[in-house]
Amino acid sequence: MGHIIPFLELAKHLVTHHHFHVSFLVITTADSLATAKTNLLCFSDVPSGLHVIYLPPVDVSNLVANIPPGLTSLCIMIQHSLKLSLRPILLGLTRPIALIIDMFGIDAFEVCDELSIPVYSFFTSSMSFLAFSLYLPTLDRETEGEFVDLPGPVQVPGCRPIRTQDLLKQVHDRKSDDYKWFFLHMSSLPKVAGILTNSWKDLEPVPLLALKENPFFLNIPTPPIHPIGPLIKEDEPITESGKEILSWLDKQKPDSVLFVALGSGGTLSSKQLIELVFGLELSQQHFILVARKPDDTSAMGTIFSAGGKEDDPKTYLPEGFVKRMEGVGLVVPSWAPQVAVLRHASTGGFFSHCGWNSILESVVQGVPMITWPMYAEQKVNAAQLAEEVGVAVRPVVELGKEVVGREEIERVVRLVMEGEEGKILRQRAKELRDSARIALELGGSSFDSLAHVVEAWKLGHNAA
Ligand code: UDP
Repeated sequence: MGHIIPFLELAKHLVTHHHFHVSFLVITTADSLATAKTNLLCFSDVPSGLHVIYLPPVDVSNLVANIPPGLTSLCIMIQHSLKLSLRPILLGLTRPIALIIDMFGIDAFEVCDELSIPVYSFFTSSMSFLAFSLYLPTLDRETEGEFVDLPGPVQVPGCRPIRTQDLLKQVHDRKSDDYKWFFLHMSSLPKVAGILTNSWKDLEPVPLLALKENPFFLNIPTPPIHPIGPLIKEDEPITESGKEILSWLDKQKPDSVLFVALGSGGTLSSKQLIELVFGLELSQQHFILVARKPDDTSAMGTIFSAGGKEDDPKTYLPEGFVKRMEGVGLVVPSWAPQVAVLRHASTGGFFSHCGWNSILESVVQGVPMITWPMYAEQKVNAAQLAEEVGVAVRPVVELGKEVVGREEIERVVRLVMEGEEGKILRQRAKELRDSARIALELGGSSFDSLAHVVEAWKLGHNAA
């Protein structure tokens, strides 16, 4: 979902602002097809020039049988899906101007080469992480042993150093399948004709400058970078339970509610879930908690089934918690209309897993964050938000401990919701909210960036 949502927004932009016809290809799995077709993606409100094509689910069960849900299984699914369906789909379209792929869509190169269709990438994470990804082949070549064992942080040229403990799990073990897939996809990035990024100049000035001007990136060579964000979900269909959440928010004071949601995939361990809910209770702040059944084996337990049916939270939360919190905290199972919640005037803080879309959605609404990274590149994002962007606080994770205790959770919640530091974070978030609006307006940096690419396409060449 974290990739489909911004892609859909880009597709809508291309149709409504630039008058393209867009064919939007959705890779599905047997599990995700139903969810994708229902209310998570409200394709009913897409403009008429946008045509959605669901690639038929491929059966890769024998290939992923012994692999837990994650990057490897995702890449295998995508690879097989594109191999089976992309060629006939492209051949069925009238002279596509370009194909824009996701960061895991490299299996499109061969057929696009053959059909002379330029390939662009839309990178749905930060420019900071893009810089790391482009640097990875060099890091790989120059490092002996594992990156996590390096004596100091990873120094991506021109960017803020990344502490080894913040490196994504996929690069911890270079012999693992996850690393091999990740490396394959990231090292293929320079093959695209251009990289669109879901970010903007004022949010990430340092990595943008590095990508565009640092000699290292100029020499790789890095494809032209076009920051066109923040493209986030605008309006989403609000279900009955969503309406209840919003009317509960209507009764709360401005900036008084903490929204707790862990993206489409995030699931906590049983112990961590207990500490989290007691931490929220101790903080005495009002909150909305998007609860999911704990998962002791995976931090991304719902990644392929986001928004699906969920058990009643009372069956897995501490006894009496939901009842005790009535009027203070609202517990909702599985999914909430996040953009609408963040946009609501009563929402004053976001306890977030730091998926890039969630970050953009929060910043665009001027809501400060508590970072709770769980999987993928979220630790890198969390560090960037807290240490570079200045819109978030990061709970202290004690060395060697896997669970963050309730007192630490109480501390950071109070800090953001009622402390002086929280006011500074909120102020900074509001500044960025304004700069995001300006970037997307006619003449703004992101508007111009996309317009530049579009003009080149219309003239039949690639954007420099
Ligand atoms: N989301 C939502 N309701 C939820 C949880 C997530 O609407 O209860 C949406 C959220 O608004 C965002 C996307 O799901 O657009 C999650 O994307 P993100 O990049 O933050 O994280 P991912 O799920 O890819 O880890």
